[in-house]
Amino acid sequence: MSDHILFLRLEGPLQSWGDQQSKFVVRRTAEAPTKSGVIGLLCAALGVSRNEAHQEWLPTLSALRMGVRADRPGVRWWDYHTVGAHMRMRTADGKTKAGAMLTRREYLCDASFLVALQGEPTLVARLEAALRKPHWTPYLGRKACPPSRPLLERTAMESGDLLAALCSVPWRPRLRGDKPGQTLECLLDWQPSLAEPVAPAGALVSYDVPLTFAPPAHAPRFVIRLQLRVGSGGQVSVSEEPAQRHTPGDRRPQADYSNSQYRAARAARLQADHYVCVFCKAPLTAWTRTVQHITYRRAGGDETQDDLRSLCRLCHDAVTMIEYGYGMGIDRINPEDPRWRDKIIEKRQQIIQFRSLETRRRRLEAEEVE
Ligand SMILES: [Zn+2]
Repeated sequence: MSDHILFLRLEGPLQSWGDQQSKFVVRRTAEAPTKSGVIGLLCAALGVSRNEAHQEWLPTLSALRMGVRADRPGVRWWDYHTVGAHMRMRTADGKTKAGAMLTRREYLCDASFLVALQGEPTLVARLEAALRKPHWTPYLGRKACPPSRPLLERTAMESGDLLAALCSVPWRPRLRGDKPGQTLECLLDWQPSLAEPVAPAGALVSYDVPLTFAPPAHAPRFVIRLQLRVGSGGQVSVSEEPAQRHTPGDRRPQADYSNSQYRAARAARLQADHYVCVFCKAPLTAWTRTVQHITYRRAGGDETQDDLRSLCRLCHDAVTMIEYGYGMGIDRINPEDPRWRDKIIEKRQQIIQFRSLETRRRRLEAEEVE
């Protein structure tokens, strides 16, 4: 029996899809629904709890092949958020006092995604029934993000081709300025097959396949990014233009700072980071601010906002020095990735120490001259 495809529409005023960068008090969102987020939503509809999901359902649901079409990518938005009212918060002098924990949460505003899930027909039928009559209230990544329309885009259909299925749903304009002719980003699961045993160059790695929800643990998957084009009648087709201009084997391209598209991407990133260093949270002035490429895949003007991070000069120098040490290629250090945290702190301290030694040496030399 051939595969069936389930179609979800994830649309609402707010959605937020946490990924591996979304930890601690600054909680960011990925650019599109993550596999763990979508599987969590399916578990809520089925009535499978966080604690029992890994026993049976997570392996079954993770095997579904997922494709996401960003019909409207949305606008990134921050929320000022407090947790608890009488938590024991540590003060600067090492004592504790009762207070609320401040956190920052990021959302995608007014985004709309078409999600297609490909799998075995009885499983798809069961999920479709659950989504029509969900056991628990479904939400778009966080409980504060209700969907603004039914989650099922259309009835499931038989198809062996996930990409063709994603193109089969017409694109509909909704906002002023929405017009045909635009391109839509599309993220497709890639799984090895006899015909294609090795992931294509340019495939991205996403750590969002859930192994357990409590505690959260994730396995990687390959994702292919494609561009789709919207025709005059809203029909969607695969764009002829390749989405990936650079493969991981390419030499590191130089960012062209005079390029107006790059300048716009850089300015948007600073704005999104509220002119605060994403690592040490220092406010950024005109003299200290830098914007780091965490990947050079689209460098030179095609950067997505997620390719860049705002950093202060000190954190930037620390990250760059670590990168040199590792001889990194096209993908660079993401300073928000907790795995780099200790290394960056250590390198920052080395730089501070070196600079203060330099200052003292110069002062001593100056005194000797006097
Ligand atoms: Zn910093």
